Formats: sequence, structure tokens, C-alpha cells
Amino acid sequence: MTLPTAHGLSRRSLLAAGGWALLSPAWGQAARVPIADMHSHYGMLGRSLPNAPVAEDMRAQRIALVAWSLPGDVRWIRSTDTGIAQVAVPPPGAVAAFFGESIEQMRAYLAQARLRIVTTADDVDACVAGDSGVVLAAEGADFLEGKLDGLEPMVAKGLRHVQLVHYIRNPVGDFQTTAPTHDGLSEFGKTLVEACNDRGVLVDLAHCTAAGITQALAISKAPVVFSHGWVDNVEGSWKDGYGFLQRRLSLAQAKQIAAAGGVVGLWGLGLQSPGPSRTPGQGNWTVGRGDTRGYARELASLVDRLGEDHVAVGSDLHGVGASWSVNDYGHVRKVIDTLQDMKLPSGAVEKLAYGNYVRVLKAAMSSRR
Ligand SMILES: [Zn+2]
Repeated sequence: MTLPTAHGLSRRSLLAAGGWALLSPAWGQAARVPIADMHSHYGMLGRSLPNAPVAEDMRAQRIALVAWSLPGDVRWIRSTDTGIAQVAVPPPGAVAAFFGESIEQMRAYLAQARLRIVTTADDVDACVAGDSGVVLAAEGADFLEGKLDGLEPMVAKGLRHVQLVHYIRNPVGDFQTTAPTHDGLSEFGKTLVEACNDRGVLVDLAHCTAAGITQALAISKAPVVFSHGWVDNVEGSWKDGYGFLQRRLSLAQAKQIAAAGGVVGLWGLGLQSPGPSRTPGQGNWTVGRGDTRGYARELASLVDRLGEDHVAVGSDLHGVGASWSVNDYGHVRKVIDTLQDMKLPSGAVEKLAYGNYVRVLKAAMSSRR
């Protein structure tokens, strides 16, 4: 159950309960668990940025933090019947230019919507306390085009969360959906992990292969996230028939990330024919389209397997086409409400709803030299 809203109580009973403070406009909001989303494309992938009411929805649903994740390779990939694939090779400079322009559009939207750009631990705390803010995030370090020079200018624009790889061949490292060529991370990729640590940028290993995850964990001085995807008994392979199978993290890899203080985000993918798969022990993603209860159930199951300090929401909102269990923050709020109804151990819902992302984000920011 959620706490009653101010509308559910009469003014008289509030006064009897003893506090004018309870009548402040913020009270109805404060009664709800804040939510932090480690991976969202909300309104971002249309022709103009954004094409959906991000700020209104965040404020209405008490969304404290969103990692608003910009895929720099989006112009060179396409959805297919089985997943997402690279369809063209960007000419030199094109990804960096596209990324830089898009970040400016995002910043312009955030300024006009008066949404905080989260760049410091104080910003994070203010959002947990009642504000709503956006963590500027990159889905793939493709915008660097193999050179560290491009990182600092984007950090200066507010970038604080960098996923190393996405869907196009790149000089950083291998990714889950294509045959490997780097044996994990390249030398540049390893240097990039250190550079992110030194600049107070959270490293995100989503889409990385098992080898890359192990290498990044050995290098990183700060906890990392795998912001979105899911956890199965065995890891996915680029040879799997569908993208969602390729994107599996094994439980052993998830535990490696957790042991280093990190956090795994579960995405809000909703399948037309959810699991169990025909291969025993494999491919058991049980969430259907529009199935907020199923998404809550998968989050609770991962808390059981990985521990309450290492699970978070990484919705991938507006990033999964029609295959969504959640498509706006009202849906995500329903997921958190369902988790509260499920009577998880005390504090577990707060940790997975926002506390775990807050912890690793602040740890990454404080690693800045
Ligand atoms: Zn992704």
C-alpha cells in the first residue's frame, strides 16, 4: 500500500494529527517513494527533442532522477525483426557532431522546462528531497570517436553517466549483439574507464560483453552500473536468435558487479510471448506488454538473487518500440506501488526505487580528481 494522499484525509484530521507541516503542498509528494531511472530515452528519439512531456510526467509521478540517455549511434542503426543492428558506417566526425548538437537540444529543453541538470552530489540530494532532475547520459561512447579529447567538453555540458558501447562497431570495446573483435575492451576502452573515474562520470557497462565487464571492474575505482537489460542463469551470445536474448547478463556477472558495489538495472521490456522459453533454463523473461505487475515481479526476483543493494530500475522508456511493459512514468509508478504491495523487506523498495542509483552516482561523482 502507498501512504494516503492529502486528498484522502480531511483538513480536520490532518490538524488533529498535529502538524501544519502536513498541510504544505509538498506533503502529498513527499509521501511517495522517489523514483530514479538509470536508463530512459523519454521523448528523445523523435525528430525533435523532446516530443513528449518529460518534465510534466516526472513531476506528476515524483520522479527524482532520470538518466536521460542519448544514443550517439542512433542514425546508423535500425530495428529489424529480431533486434537492432548497425546499417551504415558513420563518416568521421558525424557521431561527435550529432551528439554535440543533441546534447545542446536536451539542455535547451531542460532549461525551458526548469528541470535541474544533475552534476553534483548536492544536486542528487536536492532531487531526493523533492526536486526532479536529469542526469545527462550517453548510450555508447561513440561520440568520442576513439579520442579522449571529446570527453571533457561534454562533462562541462553536464554529462555524468557514460555507457561504453551500444550497437555500432567502435574503438572502445565489444558489445553483446555482434561478434567480438576486441576481446572485451580495447586499450582505449580501458583508458576511458579511468578517464571517467577521474572526471566524476559514472561508468555504465550495459551492452558490454562478459570479458569487457570483467576488465572494466578490474580497472574502475568507483562502483559501476549495468543500467538496463536482464539477468538469466547464463549470459547471452551474439549468436542468439533475438536481441533480448543476446542482451542477457549472467547471474555470475551480475554478482561481480554487485561485489564491486555496483548496481544492475532491469529494463521494462514487455514481450508479446513472455517466457518460459523453449530452451530449459534459458530465456525466461516473464514480462508481457503493458505488464507492470510482471516488471515488479522481475525486480523483486532480482532482489532475491542479487541483494537489495544492487538492483534498480533502468526502464529503457521509449527505447523498446512496441515491446514495453512501461511507456510513461505513471506506469513506472504503478511498478513501484506493486512492489510496495508485495511487502518486500523494509527499505528494499526505497533502495531499488532510487537509493541504489543515488549511491553509485554520488560515489562516481566523488571519484573526480
Ligand atoms: Zn540499450
